[in-house]
Amino acid sequence: MAQTRSRAAGQRSRTTSTTGETILDGLGVSPGVAIGPVHLHESGEIQVPEYTLKPDEVEGELGRFRASVDKSLRQIAKLKAKGDALPEAVAEEIGFLLDAHAQMLSGSRLVRGVETRISDERLNAEAAVQHETSIIAKTFAAMDDAYLAARIQDVREVGRRLIRNLTHTPFQAFRHLAEGTIIVAEEITPADTALMNPEQVAAFGCVLGGMEGHTAIMARSLGIPAVLGATGLIGAVKSGETVIIDGSAGRIIVRPTAATLDVYEKKRQGFLREERQLARLAKLPAVTRDGIEIGLHANLELPRDVEAARTHGAAGIGLLRSEFMFMNRDDVPGEDEQYEQLAHVVKALGGRPATIRTLDAGGEKLASALGPRFAAGPNPALGLRAIRLTLKEPALLEAQLAAILRAGAHGPVRILLPMISNLHEIKEVREILARVERRLVRRGVPIADPRPPLGVMIEVPGAALAADSLARACDFFAIGTNDLTMYTLAIDRGDEQVAHLYNPLHPAVLRLMQFTTEAALRNRIPVSLCGEIAGDPRYTALLLGLGIRELSMAPIKIGRVKNRVRGTELAAATVRAQAIMDQSDPGRIAALLDDFNALA
Ligand code: PEP
Ligand code: MG
Repeated sequence: MAQTRSRAAGQRSRTTSTTGETILDGLGVSPGVAIGPVHLHESGEIQVPEYTLKPDEVEGELGRFRASVDKSLRQIAKLKAKGDALPEAVAEEIGFLLDAHAQMLSGSRLVRGVETRISDERLNAEAAVQHETSIIAKTFAAMDDAYLAARIQDVREVGRRLIRNLTHTPFQAFRHLAEGTIIVAEEITPADTALMNPEQVAAFGCVLGGMEGHTAIMARSLGIPAVLGATGLIGAVKSGETVIIDGSAGRIIVRPTAATLDVYEKKRQGFLREERQLARLAKLPAVTRDGIEIGLHANLELPRDVEAARTHGAAGIGLLRSEFMFMNRDDVPGEDEQYEQLAHVVKALGGRPATIRTLDAGGEKLASALGPRFAAGPNPALGLRAIRLTLKEPALLEAQLAAILRAGAHGPVRILLPMISNLHEIKEVREILARVERRLVRRGVPIADPRPPLGVMIEVPGAALAADSLARACDFFAIGTNDLTMYTLAIDRGDEQVAHLYNPLHPAVLRLMQFTTEAALRNRIPVSLCGEIAGDPRYTALLLGLGIRELSMAPIKIGRVKNRVRGTELAAATVRAQAIMDQSDPGRIAALLDDFNALA
């Protein structure tokens, strides 16, 4: 069979056969197999229905469009007012941007164009906005003018706002997809992933994205098979064509032959069978062969998914990533709204603890709700993100802490702070927490009693090296190996081009984990690990051997890790971990770990 083959940066490849079947290799970031029709998703574009209006519907549709323009203008004015509280230079810059958006909605070409499409072409308003913004963007792009090129994003942004307001269903990017659809895109953001309903979206594949980015994490959490970093994917497939996504092997097959479909249908069934078997472990205890109980907790992105943690037998929530509550919306959730969502989680856990992390926005996790507050700096991963952002905007932190304290009236909660890098940050949070607590008590609002423990993420190398002093200032540690690996090795966790270099088994990362764990034990505070390696059974024996007794992972991973815990003898794992810690070569470390696992 004649084949053409090209190899992209890294190790990824593409193969096309004479039958038209095309195989693309990428990163298998979320396991499982799906077969289905493709929906090509244009990044940032909201899917809207398109239909022809009856002549007597035109007036009503124009009214609907004008109402959405008015609503958008009100939202922009509100965003501008909020921006005024920012430092002058930032407020000014954001003000210009929002003024430009407001101008585009005031009798501009965009508004006139949409109105013409509604009245002359009898197109529904959402589709009219989408067509018009896309034409304007194309015209700007063709003009070879730097100023207009920079305005393309603004036109698109205004168009999205209008559509969200027209559909009254903000940010429902994938709402109109048929069940079993496979999404293919250049890029899917973490916020996009949070909008995916696993009942509709069978799998997705993208050109961009790394193994430990939040898009990958979210896909694993939702149990949606996904392959990222598939170079050449766009252009290789059209909407409606059949595709296979093998998230376990990191493979995408476009236009599969009947024989290939047969092979993958069997693989799909096998994966589902194995998942069902593992689900039966939910009720068994997570105890090693020599009788040590290990706490297997769940990571949660969306509070509404707490049910999955229960059904997979989680001992509690080890990490609730509260930033997802701030995505896919224009406004910041207030204290009451956050309280409602968190109280729902706490109540659903029936007495098991919920560890709630304060806002970790920044980097790739853009929280749309923060709008102008969030001007990404030249290096977002090292910039104003996570605890740095909320300490700069204490109103955000106060609302969150109040919501957590109030949710704690319904069951045990723990407060977790992201990206701590120095002692002073913990002290500042303690002061704010005390202030919030006094305010709630004064008002007679029921809050957690006893007060929740305050813990910190150890995910910055400097924090790991300062673990002893941090341990004396807080109540528990949660090791975040996703960021710890990224910052230690200077490898972006979400960049597919360097994904092959990202390695939590690098001796430098292991030493920081060991040092942190020992500091926690020395200072008698609990330590857990909630990075992605907690959910990978390959690492379980090593982590237990290093002294970690609590792991937190996507609920769907608990069965596999529990299986590994139950097959592990802790004494032997400890000896093997010591042998591993004596090594300096990552290859040798991996071999020692894999040999140990093979004996289990
Ligand atoms: C981590 O960095 O390991 C972690 C758990 O936090 P996040 O993945 O949300 O950055
Ligand atoms: Mg992190």
